[in-house]
Amino acid sequence: MTDLLVLVPNSAAQRIRDGGQWGQITYKASDTDNVGAVIAVSHGNDPILPAAIQPKTHFLSSADSRAGHRWYRVPPELHLLWWHLRKIRGGLKLDGFKSSIDAGWMSPGGGSYLALTVSADVHTSYPEVDIPDIAAWYVTPTAVEPVDLDVQAPDQGIQQLAGHWPVADLAMTSVLVVGAGSIGGAAAHALATYGLGRLILLDPDRLLGRNLVRHLGDARYVGQRKVDVLKRQLSDLRPDTTVEALPLDVIGDADRVRALLRRVHLVLCAADGVAPRRVVSHLARRANRDAVLACVLEDGGLGEIIRLRPWLDRGCLVCQREALVEDGAIDPEPALDADYGTGTTHRPMTAVGSDLHLVGQLAAKVSVATLLERRGHPDQTLAGEHGVIGLRPQPGLAPPFDVEGSAAIRWLPAKPPRPGCPTCEPA
Ligand SMILES: [Zn+2]
Repeated sequence: MTDLLVLVPNSAAQRIRDGGQWGQITYKASDTDNVGAVIAVSHGNDPILPAAIQPKTHFLSSADSRAGHRWYRVPPELHLLWWHLRKIRGGLKLDGFKSSIDAGWMSPGGGSYLALTVSADVHTSYPEVDIPDIAAWYVTPTAVEPVDLDVQAPDQGIQQLAGHWPVADLAMTSVLVVGAGSIGGAAAHALATYGLGRLILLDPDRLLGRNLVRHLGDARYVGQRKVDVLKRQLSDLRPDTTVEALPLDVIGDADRVRALLRRVHLVLCAADGVAPRRVVSHLARRANRDAVLACVLEDGGLGEIIRLRPWLDRGCLVCQREALVEDGAIDPEPALDADYGTGTTHRPMTAVGSDLHLVGQLAAKVSVATLLERRGHPDQTLAGEHGVIGLRPQPGLAPPFDVEGSAAIRWLPAKPPRPGCPTCEPA
């Protein structure tokens, strides 16, 4: 049995469904990959019309064209047979196939050809099995074999998950991501894959050669702004998400950030350094927005996610940290300032890319859970407000940073505001 795969663009499938008893097909094929794509279809002897594979950059777009193939309208029994023959990796004699074709029969002569068949009644005839209304066959002078095919759906996006995932709720939701480095980039990819409607990415930095070992951007993009790299990747991968790329600095452009916060439902901060994190904590509180802060601590030994909520009984980032110190822990914030990636001097790189991506993806999960919980999805209630993730945990750290075991996640509750805090006290 052939392991050929045939791709059928939605426009080609529709033209076949709308046609009469038979028609002609042109397809492009790659013998190396053993895959072909239908690119033109006719109704009977009418002119053959193009039905190009999408997107235009598809690898088969530049492959060889092969004309002289056929499609036929057939009874549903033949599609049941196609479905069964694929399971048992079998074929059928040419005469058996030919007897199902009422019109337009083309003999394979000395060669062979690709045939598609269409059967409109297959779903009503066999509702218990998922048999496609379009099937593919390889026709030789003696036998006919079923061929695997992939018919493009009209919508191949996130809508396919509607009914299983709150697609509509997330489609009308916006998140600001501050920091488009290794953590922020992974968070942006994950947020888009969850089906978020709009992402605003904020980072003035460019992708440099030394970033490649950890960033999701590849060498083609070196020299571009990181926000533009992510926007380009996501427009290819997740076209359901609208991405705004802003090469702004969260401290220098704080006025712009204030305005942006009014347009989003939540801010995710994956920026390096104490100051950007404090600015996000302060501005989000004043804008009455939830904030999720993600970073790595202890030279990449730990990941950390903090959710800040603009509520009277919840403290800001500074209040959370001061409460930790009072409980006997270190304040890990100052070490963040010495981090790689800021300014022109660089500490040797510590955390490995996938550990940073893991923290970014968890920050995206926390953000989406926060948004969905607010929209009435109780299964998205978070396990805690402050997560410490063991990446390469070292012994001897004071609680709560003494997590044991790689991939362990410890969740802690939030701390209340401290009296006189300039962020937490009402303005
Ligand atoms: Zn505070």
